[in-house]
Amino acid sequence: MSATDNCLFCKIVAGQIPSRKVFEDDEVLAFHDINPWAPVHFLIVPKQHIASMAQVTARDAPLISHMLLLAPRLALEQGCSPYPDGGFRIVTNTGTQGGQEVHHLHFHVMGGPRPWARG
Ligand code: 5GP
Ligand code: ZN
Repeated sequence: MSATDNCLFCKIVAGQIPSRKVFEDDEVLAFHDINPWAPVHFLIVPKQHIASMAQVTARDAPLISHMLLLAPRLALEQGCSPYPDGGFRIVTNTGTQGGQEVHHLHFHVMGGPRPWARG
């Protein structure tokens, strides 16, 4: 059994668990968080299984850059108002003490009018 067999986000990437898709290409999938903290709250994940930011290496720089550069574009598409009055938050929890619950790298992108449920 590979490390990805029991991974929730690998199953979402594979379409074995449904999600509400925001964006997809060969490298990444973005989908709405099931339990949103904010009016806009989606996750950007790599299609390949990387457990967390703690496993990222210099070889992953193009992938990480791609994920981060998608955030502002998708945030606007999902209804966040423009900077500086609008904007968004990018959060990447890493490890148990970092608050990570799903151990497949993901960037939370949150925005929209406050107050938010959390954050
Ligand atoms: P973490 O705590 O690992 O940074 O964040 C994991 C996020 O995944 C949480 O915000 C949680 O709501 C979200 N999540 C957990 N299970 C599912 C699921 O089955 N579908 C979707 N769309 N989001 C999920
Ligand atoms: Zn995974």
